[in-house]
Amino acid sequence: MASEPPQYKVLLVGDGGTGKTTFVRRHLSGNFERKYIPTIGVNVEPILWHTTRGPVLLNIWDTAGQEKFGYLREGYYINGNAAIIMFDVTSRTTYKNVPNWHRDINRVCANDIPIVLCGNKVDVKDRDVVPKNINYHRKKNLTYFEISVKSNYNYEKPFIYLLRRLSHDDKLSLVQEPALLPQELTVDLEAQKANEAIIAAADADFPADEDTF
Ligand code: GDP
Ligand code: MG
Repeated sequence: MASEPPQYKVLLVGDGGTGKTTFVRRHLSGNFERKYIPTIGVNVEPILWHTTRGPVLLNIWDTAGQEKFGYLREGYYINGNAAIIMFDVTSRTTYKNVPNWHRDINRVCANDIPIVLCGNKVDVKDRDVVPKNINYHRKKNLTYFEISVKSNYNYEKPFIYLLRRLSHDDKLSLVQEPALLPQELTVDLEAQKANEAIIAAADADFPADEDTF
């Protein structure tokens, strides 16, 4: 019999309405069932990834809406192995609140757990949070991805990043594409390429910039 895949608890946090539930339900994992934990009010969404290091199960913790109050109970964070912080590029408030979610993770979890920041809804033409104003991840040593859940744009990027960190293998890749719901929106790929270039250039510049202060 095949051995059990390694499992990790992945916290999914960020303001209400940023697309967290849409994100985690986009994946058609099939093999495992979602579990609801009533005491904490959380849905645990198991996603099995087929990687060059074998299967890895990420149990994504998604709230049932309690984040509307601005914080989550400690039980949500306990034993978190990794985290995804999501904001909405069409809402400045959700970006402003990123440090609060980050602080709450660090309050309970080990300080070195991998954390990825995602700016969702990059399909929207008139975004409110533009690439040159997205700096938080640099100061805090987080990795940032621009995503559009409903376009399946960069969907697997944050997961691959976490899988690499959790497996301590920078070269890990997927051996099977994730099964996703069909694309509902589209991203203007030309405009988005320019956005990605601005972010990449600022990321590359960051330590040099800091030296000049
Ligand atoms: P949560 O409160 O963070 O779990 O957010 P939800 O997943 O409930 O999504 C909030 C709203 O954002 C819903 O109306 C979604 O349809 C919408 N949404 C989610 N992802 C995207 C996306 O990639 N693009 C756009 N334009 N809207 C999205
Ligand atoms: Mg939700």
